[in-house]
Amino acid sequence: MVLVNLSEGEPASAKDSALALARPHLVLDGAVAAARALGSRELHLVVTGERPRVRLSVRQALEERGGDVAVHVHTAAPRFVAGQARAVIELLSGRPNLPVTAWTPEAVDGLRGRPTLLSNAETWAHVGLLVLRGEGAYRRHGTDAEPGTALLTLTSPGEDPHVREVAYGTRLRDVLPEAAHGLPALVGGFHGSWATWPTLASARVSVPGLAALGTPLGAGVLLVPDADTCPVELTSRIVTFLAGQSAGRCGPCLNGLPALAAAVRDLATGWGGAARAGELAALVRGRGACAHPDGTARLVRSLLATLSHEVAEHAAGGCTHASAAVAS
Ligand code: SF4
Repeated sequence: MVLVNLSEGEPASAKDSALALARPHLVLDGAVAAARALGSRELHLVVTGERPRVRLSVRQALEERGGDVAVHVHTAAPRFVAGQARAVIELLSGRPNLPVTAWTPEAVDGLRGRPTLLSNAETWAHVGLLVLRGEGAYRRHGTDAEPGTALLTLTSPGEDPHVREVAYGTRLRDVLPEAAHGLPALVGGFHGSWATWPTLASARVSVPGLAALGTPLGAGVLLVPDADTCPVELTSRIVTFLAGQSAGRCGPCLNGLPALAAAVRDLATGWGGAARAGELAALVRGRGACAHPDGTARLVRSLLATLSHEVAEHAAGGCTHASAAVAS
């Protein structure tokens, strides 16, 4: 089974949607080529109901194509964890679009118990490029170790996201807008990690390179708060959002994430210290059926470790940023 995951549950990401709007045939070319190579006659696309233009673009592209591979379009639930691989397979199996525990990889035992290849739109577009243009053309961008390009979503709170295609090896400081120079950024999305400006300024677009710096590229999101936005307050809002997105099936999500969100809120408003948030972030790690608690804990731990100056100011009842309003 071949699945194209266009559900983009990460709210700060827009790269898969941008591809579906601008280059839907490239995504389909890659996925159809894989389906043919694997002898599959079925291709499944999962889109989100929250981005109707994406669904429309995919539908129009499908109407323009013929072919021997039947394509089925499904709509994911508007929930952060709905795009998780097992949650997508649950949706296509007619069950709630939520993650479940699985002991076998979906590549071995996936949809209807069959080996399932599930990737996001960006991956399928890369396959499409390789099929259409060949390896030599693909290697013209990027580095020897990491050929090709990556799609990055640059986003600031309250602003529309921008999607940029950049070659691997590009300096991050050349990707970030000038207004972001000197500021920390959240790398990887809501499950990502905070990075200081010196780290960002020295980094290049690289999956292993950014992972080695402790800021994995993750969903390819660079979330840059403006100079007036407090990263502690922003983290508090994100953790509160994430705590409300769980399926409520596992203890770390049902009890741990709301408690963690409360601790980070207390920190942001000067009612609590960093210790409680750090303790809870350590407690929820590695205990969920999916990576949702781990990703949320990673975000909190990175705030505490990377932006310790801002955290200490909040713990003392102050804030280093002008707009440090009381988190609601
Ligand atoms: S860890 Fe949370 S999101 Fe993941 S399966 Fe359990 S309850 Fe659901």
